[in-house]
Amino acid sequence: MTPREAFNNILGGEVINNLEKRGFDARYVSTSAEALEQVKKMVPDGSLVSWGGTMTLEETGIKEYLKSGKYDVIDRAAANGPDEIREAYHKALNTDYYFMSTNAITRDGILVNIDGNGNRLAALIYGPENIIIVAGMNKIVNTEEEAVPRIQNTASPLNAHRLGRQTPCLLTGSCGDCLSPDSMCSHTVATRRSHPKGRIKVILVGESLGY
Ligand code: SF4
Repeated sequence: MTPREAFNNILGGEVINNLEKRGFDARYVSTSAEALEQVKKMVPDGSLVSWGGTMTLEETGIKEYLKSGKYDVIDRAAANGPDEIREAYHKALNTDYYFMSTNAITRDGILVNIDGNGNRLAALIYGPENIIIVAGMNKIVNTEEEAVPRIQNTASPLNAHRLGRQTPCLLTGSCGDCLSPDSMCSHTVATRRSHPKGRIKVILVGESLGY
């Protein structure tokens, strides 16, 4: 076992314990391939599924698997125009399983997320029967106070490049506290417990995934 793997096992175990104390259904796996196997076991064939914007689902192969034909899929990328996109956002709130990552997880098990549109966070808070969060070790922060700077100075500049957003963080690599039309920071949500218990399921992966 490498030093990184040993460290991830210890830190991952600590975070999983703290997530479980808060009612999350949480598990640690070492690799993306194992995360995909977990998803296969957790989601029955024929389930209605959707997802929020996330690089992690692409990097783990989970998005491709969800679209492989076993499930009924609501994919806003397949929507044709603003009306269909809006309809897809609304339908996603009634899914059996909604997939996303998280922008940050504190060591004591709080999920912290920032959204521009809010559809992903609306689903996280209420609607889908189950939420499955897949997150790499790079999302772990020591405290809630460290979460927002991590999101706005690391995740947001990268997402600005990915999404072509004309924001200060795109130009400088750090947050300029913007109110521009392209801002990705409208809603900040800290999720300190899963209610109902077990509705939010977390698969923590011992790799660096997404932003
Ligand atoms: S507030 Fe604006 S500049 Fe700051 S991270 Fe969000 S989008 Fe980027």
